[in-house]
Amino acid sequence: MNDKADAATQQGPQTRLVRSGYDSVSQRAFINPPVVHGSTVLFPDAHTMETHGQKYTYGTRGTPTTDALCAAINELEGAAGTILVPSGLAAVTVPLLAYLSSGDHALIVDSVYGNVREFCDSMLPRFGIEVDYYDPSIGAEIEGLFKPNTRLVHTEAPGSSTFEIQDIPAIVEAAHRHGAIVTMDNTWATPLYFKPLDFGVDVSIQASTKYPAGHADILFGTVSANARHWPLLRKANGLLGLCAAPDDTYQVLRGLRTLGVRLDRHQTSALDIARWLESRADVARVLHPALPSFPGHDIWKRDFKGASGVFSFVLRVEHEEQFKAKAQAFLDALSIFGLGYSWGGFASLALHVSLKERRVTTAPTDGPVLRLQIGLEDTDDLKADLDRAFAAVRAF
Ligand SMILES: *Cc1c(COP(=O)(O)O)cnc(C)c1O
Repeated sequence: MNDKADAATQQGPQTRLVRSGYDSVSQRAFINPPVVHGSTVLFPDAHTMETHGQKYTYGTRGTPTTDALCAAINELEGAAGTILVPSGLAAVTVPLLAYLSSGDHALIVDSVYGNVREFCDSMLPRFGIEVDYYDPSIGAEIEGLFKPNTRLVHTEAPGSSTFEIQDIPAIVEAAHRHGAIVTMDNTWATPLYFKPLDFGVDVSIQASTKYPAGHADILFGTVSANARHWPLLRKANGLLGLCAAPDDTYQVLRGLRTLGVRLDRHQTSALDIARWLESRADVARVLHPALPSFPGHDIWKRDFKGASGVFSFVLRVEHEEQFKAKAQAFLDALSIFGLGYSWGGFASLALHVSLKERRVTTAPTDGPVLRLQIGLEDTDDLKADLDRAFAAVRAF
C-alpha cells in the first residue's frame, strides 16, 4: 500500500482514509499496526547506539504505532509533520508554547475553546506574553490589530459553542504580511471538510477526542505543521516530553478508518434536526453554519466541504431572568440526549452554553443558547426527545 505513494495523491479522501499510514515492514504485513508499549529500544552495538543509527531509539521519539498514525494524519492534513499529544487542549497549548516567547503578542479569536482562553489569560502572561481577543467575523480588518510584536494569530472556525465562521484566507494574508504564524483549531470540520494548510494556515490542530476517536472514550490531540514551522513544533514537543499512549494512538488510527462514514451521518442528521428546529416557534435562531440564515454561511460555503454534527440554537425566552431556569427545564426533560461535555462520539448530547467569558462578541439576548451534538441515533427518536423538552419548557 505505502509503496505507491505517488498514486495515493490522486485518490479520493475516503480511499486515503482507509489506506493511509500502512507500513508493511514495521507491521509485518498485518493490516493494522502493532500496539507497541515501550520505552527502551535495544541497539545491536555501541556505535549504532552512539550515532542513533537506527529507526527507533527511545519510546518518546516514536514507535511503529505512533508512526502509523502520524503518517496517516500527515497525509490527511497535507502536513510536513504531526505531533501526538494526550488531549485536544494540549494540542492547542503546545503550539502556543512552541511559537511564542517573552515579549510577544498573540491574537486569539474571541470564540475560542473555553479552556484555551483560561490558558491564555493565566499561563501566557506569566511568560511575558500579551494576548488580545478579536471578533471572529473580523476578516481582513484584523489588519488594524497587529502590533510590531504580534507573533501568532490563533483561529478556530466555526467558533466553540456559537459556531462563528472566520474568513481564514483573509486572516492568513494579513498575518503573513506581518510575519505572524497562523494556528487553527479545526476540530469541528476535521481535515475531511476543511484542510487548514491548503488555505495557508501554518499549524492545524485537531482534538482527536471528538470525531477521529469517535466513541467518547479517548482523550487525544494532533498538531500538524507545514514545512516551515514543523522543526520548531517537533523540538518543543520533545523538550516538553509529551507523548501519546500506545493504546489511544491505535484507537485514533482505527477511528480514522470510519471517520468518513460517521461524519457523513452526523452531518445529515444534524442538518435535518437544525432545519426542523429552525421551523419552530419556540426557537429564536439556529446557529449552524450550513443554514443559509446563519451569518458567515457564505464563507462556510466558499471554503468548507461539509458540516459536522454539533451546533447550537437559541431557545426563545422573553425574560432574561428566566434564561437559565428554562434552559435547565429543557435539558432535564431530555432522555435520549445525554447531558455531558465533549462531542464527536456516537451518542447525542446537550448542554446550556455559558458565554460570560466572551470579551468582544456578546451573548444572544433573545434566549439561552443550547448546544446539541447529534449522534448516530435515528433522527425521529431525537426529534421526539426534543419535542418532549420543548413541551416541558412550555409547561414551565
Ligand atoms: C474539545 C475541544 C478541545 C479540547 O479537547 P480535549 O481532548 O477535550 O482536551 C479543543 N478544541 C476544541 C474546538 C474542542 O471542541
